[in-house]
Formats: sequence, C-alpha cells, structure tokens
Amino acid sequence: MPVDLLAGHVGGPSVGNHAAVAGIICLMRLVLLALSLLLALPRALGQNLPDLGDVSGGVLSPQMERSIGEAAMRDIRFRDPSYLDDPELTAYINSLGRRLTAVNPDARLDFEFFMVRDSTINAFAMPGGFVGVHTGLLVAAQAESEVASVLAHEVAHVTQHHIARMLGNQAQMSVPTIAALVVAILAARSNPQVATGAITAITAGNIQSQLNYGRDFEREADRVGFQTLERSGFDVHAMVTFFDRLQKFGRLYENNAPAYLRTHPITSERIADIQNRVRDAPYRQTPDSLEFQLARAKIRADQGSPRDALTVFEDQISAHRFASEAGALYGLATARARAGEFNRAEAAVADLRRLVGLHPMVELLAARIRAGAGDMKGARDLVAAAATLHPNYRPLRYAQIDYLQKLGQHTEAIGMLGELVKNYPHDARLYELQAKSYAATGRRLLQHQALAESYFLQGALVAAIDQLQLAQKSGDGDFFQLSSVEARLRQLRVLQLEEKKREGGR
Ligand SMILES: [Zn+2]
Repeated sequence: MPVDLLAGHVGGPSVGNHAAVAGIICLMRLVLLALSLLLALPRALGQNLPDLGDVSGGVLSPQMERSIGEAAMRDIRFRDPSYLDDPELTAYINSLGRRLTAVNPDARLDFEFFMVRDSTINAFAMPGGFVGVHTGLLVAAQAESEVASVLAHEVAHVTQHHIARMLGNQAQMSVPTIAALVVAILAARSNPQVATGAITAITAGNIQSQLNYGRDFEREADRVGFQTLERSGFDVHAMVTFFDRLQKFGRLYENNAPAYLRTHPITSERIADIQNRVRDAPYRQTPDSLEFQLARAKIRADQGSPRDALTVFEDQISAHRFASEAGALYGLATARARAGEFNRAEAAVADLRRLVGLHPMVELLAARIRAGAGDMKGARDLVAAAATLHPNYRPLRYAQIDYLQKLGQHTEAIGMLGELVKNYPHDARLYELQAKSYAATGRRLLQHQALAESYFLQGALVAAIDQLQLAQKSGDGDFFQLSSVEARLRQLRVLQLEEKKREGGR
C-alpha cells in the first residue's frame, strides 16, 4: 500500500460529511516525527532495514529527493485508489500551483500538483516537488486564496528541503526505504491514529525534542509560505480565516485527535504567528478564478448519489444562494447528467454558456452530456470545435482522442496523437492513448513501444523495459522500428543501473 511522504498539513473535518476526522494536524510533522524516531532506532532494531547508500554523510541531494518523490508518486499513481486522475482538475490545481511557484525564488525544480479523492481537508508535499491536494480542501475552501495559502505552505516544505534537513547526516536508509515510509505515513493522512500507532510501536523515546524540531519547520513553512502568498497577489488574510475555521472544526473533533497532538497543540500558536504577519498587510481583494469555481463544482457534483448532488445544486439555484452562479450551473448540469436527465443538463449548459462563453471546461461538460445521451459524434464535434479555440488545453485533446477511439476512428486518432506527442513528448497519457489505438489496429510493436514510454514517464522503469522486450518479440516490426526499440532498451537499462547504484545498493 503505501506511498507518499512529506507532509501535509491541516487535517480536518470534511465539511458536510460527518464521517470524517480528527483535529488539525500537519502531516509533515507526523512524517518528520516518524522518520526521526526510526532514525533513532538502536542498530539491532534497525537491522532489517536495507542498507543505505548515499544518504549517509550529508543531506539528501536534490537528485535523491526527486527519486524519493518519484518512487512515492509511482506508488500513488499505480496503487492508491484515491489518486484522482481527472485531467481538468489536474490542470486547474497545477495552474494554481504555478502561480505560487513562479514567485517563490527557491521553487526552481518542476513541481507537480495532483488531486486526491479524500473528503478531509488536507494537502501534503513530498520531496522533489510533488504536492497532493485533497478534494475536501477545494470543496471546503470559501475562497481561492484559502487554497493558495495551504499550497504555499506545502511548497515551502519542499523548497526548504525539510525532509532532507531532518535526515541530516544521521540517515542510514535507502531511497526506497524512505519512499516506502513516506507512503505508509501518507496512507494514514486521513486517519492520524494509524500513523500514531505505528510511531508508538517503534519507540516512545525523546518525543518532545522531535516535536520541537517539527515545530520549527512548521513555522518556517508558514513564514516562507506567507511571503509566497503575498508576492503571488492572493489575499494573505485568507491564511488566518482558513486556519481559524479549521481550528474551530478541530475543536469539535478534539477527542479523536492523537494524544500527542492534544497535549501539544500547534495551531493556536501558528495562527498567532500568522496573525502577527498579516496585521500589517494591506487588505487586497483577490477575485476567485472561474476555474476555481468550476473545479469545486465538478468535485461536489461527482460526490454522493446523483440524487444528493442534484438536490445540492437545485437548492443553490432556486434559493439563489451560491458563491458563483457559474459554479452552481456547472454543478447542476453535471448532477443532471449523472441522474440521466440529459435534456435538462443541456439546458443548464446553455445558461452557463450565456454566462461565461465557450470555456473549455464547459465545452467538455457539454460533450460528456452528449456522450452520456449516446451521441458520440456530437461529443466528438463539440470538443473538436473547442480545441480549435483552445489548442493548448490538453484535457480537450485527450477527450477528442477518446471520442475518436470510441467511434473506432483509430487512424484519425493515431494521426492526431503523432502531432501531439511531438509537442508534448513528456505527456504519459498521450503514449497510453497511442498504445490503445495501436492495439485496436493490431500493431503490436508500436503498441508495446508506446506503452513503454508511458510507463517510463510515470517512473515505472522496470515495466517500461518489460514492454520494450515485448515489442522486440512482437514479430510485426520492420528493421527501423526494431532498431529504435533496441536503442531505447539500451538507454533504459543504463538508467536502471544508475538508479540501482543511487538507491544504495553497494
Ligand atoms: Zn506543514
């Protein structure tokens, strides 16, 4: 199961869902605590841990941090059912993240933001620049600046290299071990007791000093995050409003909070610190983006039964009580489509277009409604028209290919993918779509070759090599195709050797 690592942040209740959660907790702290306790293990206990290579001697190199993050990410993508593979939400959260990383001078590496289907309010960062965002955070936030304030804090954990600094020169663990630990702890992000139990089982020693260590990192992430938020033009006051609200929620759930968090409350202190900073900041009205409203409506409208979702948005519209009319209409159309009411869904889309014009997310919704009603050609034509207006919005292109494939138009799909792959050679999804059309047209070498690239880009090197070997044996390639497969195989084997060395075999 596990995967993930560094940190997150405010755990909280899911709004509108009584099932959830314990108090406010920073996952980052939990991870750091667990790591520090593990590192403090007596040698005898630690013996079954793999031996660690390069980590000893100093902090993790940026390359090692990236490897840890990639390994954890691979686990999340392939094994975590809550990983939310929705291109539109992914595009939104990355564009929001980029507004922050663009103004953080230390955020030079590539950041990758991704969504996690989890109704608790949280976000977490892993070494190397991978930041997970719970759907619950988007739904619960009352302004985009609130989400930005959480992300800015997470980005700071990454740019300040908190995990690497925590490990310092005492580390005796390999990259895979650290990655596995990160994943295990993150798996407990919505259920802090699990992680606490694991930690307690390891040792009960010296918790207080570790807590202080974690607290310093929290404070630093708040400080750097605040600067980022300020430079990015979001409203810094949102930091206080949001934490305040979370804290109030947290109190309601206090009895569920792990004991050490109850005895070492961190949030009032954090809030006081932030309040001091915010005090002098000018009030700044930062309007929410339309994409923020549409993204949260999309998440909300996909939750619960179609009937529930329908009620939520019908109530908003009829009472005229919504943060954004566009969001409410988008949610209504989505919920109606889920309930099979396609004509009424299209009526809501028509209202939405009058309000916002031909927005790519709205056109994608319109296409899904057509497709749901069985009009696949109509869906294909809608996204094709929208793609001419927004050629760089990739979710449109994915949908365009998807509808072509559903219509059996694989030759067109392959032609279009050839162009797209040239423009976006690092987009794993494009290769996956290519593999699908090659498979459907019986081209086995090309199918395995495309799949190999898709796996490679998602960090699954071994699976990529397997696919290239299958491509070699496919029996339907010409001389040039076979040589290109062989050349790629040689490259990946070299990478595999390097990776083994780095991960600390020795
Ligand atoms: Zn934190």
